[in-house]
Amino acid sequence: MAETRSALWQDYTWPELQALAEAGAAVIVPVGAIEQHGPHLPVSVDSTCVYEVARHAAQAVTEFPVLVAPPVWWGVSPHHMGFAGTITLSTDTFIAVVSDICRSIGQHGFRRILILNGHGGNASVVNVIAQRLSEQKPPLWVAAATYFTMIAQDLQAIGESDFGGMSHACEMETSLMLALRPDLVHLDRAEDDMRGPWTSFFGWDMRVGGTVYYAYDMKRDTNQGVIGAPSLATTEKGQRILAAATTHVASFLREYQAMPV
Ligand SMILES: [Zn+2]
Repeated sequence: MAETRSALWQDYTWPELQALAEAGAAVIVPVGAIEQHGPHLPVSVDSTCVYEVARHAAQAVTEFPVLVAPPVWWGVSPHHMGFAGTITLSTDTFIAVVSDICRSIGQHGFRRILILNGHGGNASVVNVIAQRLSEQKPPLWVAAATYFTMIAQDLQAIGESDFGGMSHACEMETSLMLALRPDLVHLDRAEDDMRGPWTSFFGWDMRVGGTVYYAYDMKRDTNQGVIGAPSLATTEKGQRILAAATTHVASFLREYQAMPV
């Protein structure tokens, strides 16, 4: 199945998936969010972006099979509920759903599972999921990562905005959507919002990790649900961001595959 290999879990039959498990396939579980992304981007941004990054990374790895599980569309987004369209899971529900998905995949014999996250509100929670699964008896070992955290250094080179310009529905996410789904981007409605943060300790920009966590409220803390500078978004930046994310996720998968599990 080398040339035409699909990366998508849902495209296979059970005997094929059994064979893929026996062949040592890695599995990416993309987790996103359905939440407001300002007046210029659809609510699907986080799920669309992480699913596309996962698909590109899976195709980039040719040394062993990589599958992409059906994405978890909903994430932990209570801080976005002040704007219409957001559909959130509670933290406990999200933990339960993603854990059950990982347990199912693990039960079929897949030994390398990566929860790949595309939403800031899920970032600390996916680490908790990996931790909890390692504590069950017998343990299930999974890796967890947020794709835009993996490319923070690349974003420093790509971004032109001031600090705070790459945060939410921002220079970064708008660029990536221009590369992936330009039909869903309404640049004429994009409005920059550079008000935050109140303290430089918060992770207010994808290029700089914060050292203090704070669960803010988008309705209170933004004008229209944007944090950043979508006006600086371009398709070319989006292509570079996609390439960087693909490279980093694929590199991790290769090192993960070489690791004893
Ligand atoms: Zn987002």
